[in-house]
Amino acid sequence: MNQTYNPYDNVLKVVEDAASILGYTESDIEAIKYPERELKVSIPVRMDDGTTHVFEGYRIQHSTSRGPAKGGIRFHPAVNIDEVRALSAWMTFKCAVVNIPYGGGKGGVVCDPSKLSENEIRAITRRYTAAIAPLIGPEQDIPAPDVGTNAGVMGWMMDTYSMLKGHCIHGVVTGKPIELGGALGRNEATGRGVMFTTKNILSRLNIPVKGTTVAIQGMGNVGSITAKLLDKEGMKVVAVSDVSGAIYNPGGLNIPEILKYLSKDRRNLLENYEEEGMNRISNSELLELDVTVLVPAALENQINSDNADRIRAKVIVEAANGPTTSQADEILEKKGITVVPDILANAGGVVVSYFEWVQNIQSVMWTEEAVNEKLKNIMDPAFEAVWNIADSKHTTLRTGAYLIAVKRVVEAKAARAIWP
Ligand code: GLU
Repeated sequence: MNQTYNPYDNVLKVVEDAASILGYTESDIEAIKYPERELKVSIPVRMDDGTTHVFEGYRIQHSTSRGPAKGGIRFHPAVNIDEVRALSAWMTFKCAVVNIPYGGGKGGVVCDPSKLSENEIRAITRRYTAAIAPLIGPEQDIPAPDVGTNAGVMGWMMDTYSMLKGHCIHGVVTGKPIELGGALGRNEATGRGVMFTTKNILSRLNIPVKGTTVAIQGMGNVGSITAKLLDKEGMKVVAVSDVSGAIYNPGGLNIPEILKYLSKDRRNLLENYEEEGMNRISNSELLELDVTVLVPAALENQINSDNADRIRAKVIVEAANGPTTSQADEILEKKGITVVPDILANAGGVVVSYFEWVQNIQSVMWTEEAVNEKLKNIMDPAFEAVWNIADSKHTTLRTGAYLIAVKRVVEAKAARAIWP
């Protein structure tokens, strides 16, 4: 089963499949199979109880062929080098499929923020930023939030980097607090992009938006904003989950109430939430519900060879990175389930990160309306392009997305040629 799961193998599989349809030789894609640069750091932190603890961290730049490396920082106990590698490569292809001028990177620290105080999280952030400072910068590599990090952490990263350089450098990270040059709309951007994508796929499949049932795995930034926006659009969100388990209400959950409850305190979990008509179910039951749309918005490897056969959703919109394994992809395709791939579906976050960086380097500020409209103007055509190529080449949407992305990366690399 999944014991040997290495997410980077999933990346290579889909890149190789796309490359063969594109008629590329092994040599054409050889260089993009390897991350350009990998940094492992040790982060000593004085904990609140006076002891010293050394955390392990990474920053990996998968590609800088199309522009500076770009991608988030994950704080999670399961962070490891293979995961960060895969996440960095997904960023390369994500930026390519929506055609923003970035390569891909990712970072992570092995830690559990739910068990750390704010002081400890800030200490980890500052020392980690100092350790990766030689690699990052607005023209080299631009971090952003990911699982377990948020605008506050980005503010500390920006401050640490600026202190080290001796002057204020807004553009070194995105997803910052608004007061520090954060973009209006960035906090909601990934979920908003997932909402646009969900509407696009439903329209292509002639499924109405209103009343269509949705299950969402994960109530972090992406899952909760997706729930909020899909609910607002009139979809019926029947199930949501977090680390404590899942709740299910066949008549539709009260999403505004759930979000109010969860945002009151970061320790609030769904296990203590109650509403009329809801049942508690397990995370795996949520994934296997008979709903029209399933939105995995948590971690990798959630839909795999163990459970793919039992998935009953018609459509999977991947809000998380890498939630579906390559083996599961084959099973889902045979079952006729449409998967809108992560690199397209969740690209809204990095698109608005790009807008934030553009604003920072020009010292301007756009309105939230302008940001949301520009986001739609990127997400909708990117979806159309992926749909059309998948349709004309008779491939899945994932392969379609990679046909576009791999071609852009390979062509950029070829145009630069190999140095020296
Ligand atoms: N962590 C997000 C992602 O996986 C956002 C990355 C960014 O904005 O750079 O796409």
